[in-house]
Amino acid sequence: MDGLLIAPATRRQALIASACALAILLTLALAAPRAHEALPAVAPFMPMCALTVFTTSGIAAFLLGARFAATRVPMLGALGGAYAFTAIAVALQLLMFPGVFTRNGLLGAGPHSAAWMWIFWHAGFPLLVIVAELVRTRAAADAAPTVAPRASATRGWLLIAAPAAVAALLGVLVTQIDLVEPWRASTAAPLLQQPSSLATPLSSSSGSSPGSPLGAHLIANLAGLAICALNVAAIAVVLLKGRLRLVLDLWIVVALLASFVDAALNTLSIERFTLGWYVARIFSMLAPGVLVCVLVWEVTALYRQLAEVHASLVRTSARDALTRVYNRSYFDTQFLLTCERAAQNAQPLSLVMIDVDHFKRYNDAYGHLQGDACLAAVAGALARALRPGDFVARYGGEEFTLVLPDTDAAEAGVIAERARAAVVELMIPTPAASGQITVSAGCATSGLADIEVTPTALIEAADTALYAAKRAGRNRVAFAHANGASLASPLSG
Ligand code: GH3
Ligand code: MG
Ligand code: MG
Repeated sequence: MDGLLIAPATRRQALIASACALAILLTLALAAPRAHEALPAVAPFMPMCALTVFTTSGIAAFLLGARFAATRVPMLGALGGAYAFTAIAVALQLLMFPGVFTRNGLLGAGPHSAAWMWIFWHAGFPLLVIVAELVRTRAAADAAPTVAPRASATRGWLLIAAPAAVAALLGVLVTQIDLVEPWRASTAAPLLQQPSSLATPLSSSSGSSPGSPLGAHLIANLAGLAICALNVAAIAVVLLKGRLRLVLDLWIVVALLASFVDAALNTLSIERFTLGWYVARIFSMLAPGVLVCVLVWEVTALYRQLAEVHASLVRTSARDALTRVYNRSYFDTQFLLTCERAAQNAQPLSLVMIDVDHFKRYNDAYGHLQGDACLAAVAGALARALRPGDFVARYGGEEFTLVLPDTDAAEAGVIAERARAAVVELMIPTPAASGQITVSAGCATSGLADIEVTPTALIEAADTALYAAKRAGRNRVAFAHANGASLASPLSG
């Protein structure tokens, strides 16, 4: 079972995902014109968002990794890699963020380290989704119907581990390598003076070149626009390669749309605590959150399916295929338990062994197929004679057992007689002298005639009684007796 995530999307799923996509675009349309509007400052909002993104991305990476381990579908591993990258990048960004843990940020961060990590985080996610789609393209070349040939375990896990390692390396890069210096030097002063604009390069002050505030703003906008373009490109690749056929395609597009709106609003609104800034942060949480919801829903749905299949398996494995009453295997385990329970509670337990009379002749006359139908009808009649709590099982061939818990000999005789009569009432014609199908029954009750409450003792005693009924002329009920012999009841049919 490959799972629901890479199963074809149903119309309903497509509609739900479309509604989510529309809601995201509508939110962008509503928020964009008012993106600059200042809202009350909630300082812990950014760390809270970053922590949420870290947690949900980590869960998404873990769940996708688990799905990959179960299915060996490389695209799932690669998407797990995209979320692992996001988790590491956002965690590093949070640690480096000035003013969250320390004034200048942890890990030896410079004033712009967190901003660079923001860029890498937001650019890395759509890029890695494109990589996942390329993995899928290679698979399609092998004519796989949906996504992939099975990947080798090591190569597959690299799809997850490598992006996480790249995110960590980028973390080292932004804190250690000179590459960052020009950017850092150009905007360090305004950022240090205005802690309110620390969130991203997109929220730094205005300037005309990397050495001036306008330059920083320009770079910020360029980075934002490039990230928007990357998200649009990733959406296009998913649409082209996947054509929204799979459940995963739908929700990856929704996640990319959320990521696009996040970048777009950041580009539009450069100040912290503006409407655009808050909404952007909400969407940054939505991008991994969407996938986590879908993955958790998948696990729940799979669990439900598993429970249903298991229940149906238990039901069918306990039933005899021909007669639909319980089978011998069920009888063996259940009768043992019933015996133990009866012994523990010091209650009587009765067993009735039933055998169809002269059934060979019926088969010889009408053939085995009709013989089968006759057995099914007899089993149905026996079942109808029982009380709640009793059960009938096919012991083998044309023999059945009635298990009657908490039933003494007299009551067992009544039920056995009712069962015998129910078969007679079926009026199934047979070439035997009786003219119609009949059964003989042997009853044994624990405690009577020194019969122990064990399966063997009860079966042996009921068997002996059954043969007594046969010897006495068939179509009758007989009871086990103390001397091991059995007396047949008078013919009552
Ligand atoms: P008795 O009254 O002594 O029990 O006679 P009998 O003919 O019923 O007993 P016997 O043991 O000689 O024959 C049992 C027959 O039941 C033979 C066998 O073909 C038939 N039988 C057993 N299982 C099935 C089954 O699943 N389907 C059909 N059609 N016949 C079965
Ligand atoms: Mg028999
Ligand atoms: Mg028989």
